[in-house]
Amino acid sequence: MESRSVIQSAPGPAKSKVVKELESLDSKIRVCTACPLYKSRTLAVPGEGKFNSKVMIIGEAPGRNEDLTGRPFVGSSGKFLDHVLEGSEFDRSDFFITNICKCRPPSNRTPKTGEIETCTSLYLYRQIELINPRIIVLLGGVAVKKMLGKKTVEEARCGIVEHEGRKFLVTYHPAVRFYREELAEKIKEDFALLKSEMKKL
Ligand code: SF4
Repeated sequence: MESRSVIQSAPGPAKSKVVKELESLDSKIRVCTACPLYKSRTLAVPGEGKFNSKVMIIGEAPGRNEDLTGRPFVGSSGKFLDHVLEGSEFDRSDFFITNICKCRPPSNRTPKTGEIETCTSLYLYRQIELINPRIIVLLGGVAVKKMLGKKTVEEARCGIVEHEGRKFLVTYHPAVRFYREELAEKIKEDFALLKSEMKKL
């Protein structure tokens, strides 16, 4: 089963090189068998958004709804994302949204180190290079560990941080609020900071 391409390109007859390469990555991800996660997926989830988004959001891996639709953050975490952006001039179309791993792990387990290494080296790093966002938002411990080398969100969460020439904002994964309600407020605080930073971009 295939789903539509979700790279939003600029209008006009000639597609830019960046859009073409993002679409090519998208196609490769949808049929990828480079790590064992391909066996349990319904649809791979390459990510979606504008090819020139100033902000990129990186979560952990697709959940059930994402796996069924091939789109990132369409389940309850996506609704929460919409909620934290409500009332601002921004919505999800202002971001490129993707994950560390593009296929759903069985029973939503945490992706294994080998799966993370394979998927990021084949796809995520190139997506970052192509989109070249001004700020990267990391949602949850898996993204934080891989991208910043920190052990926990708590250790890395301190506003906008610079790492290897890029700016990052670290926050909790929206799914965490189901078992730690108090963290929903912290995620909202972090997105409030993000919205104020986005106005300066
Ligand atoms: S998780 Fe990534 S590397 Fe593994 S099969 Fe899916 S797209 Fe390929």
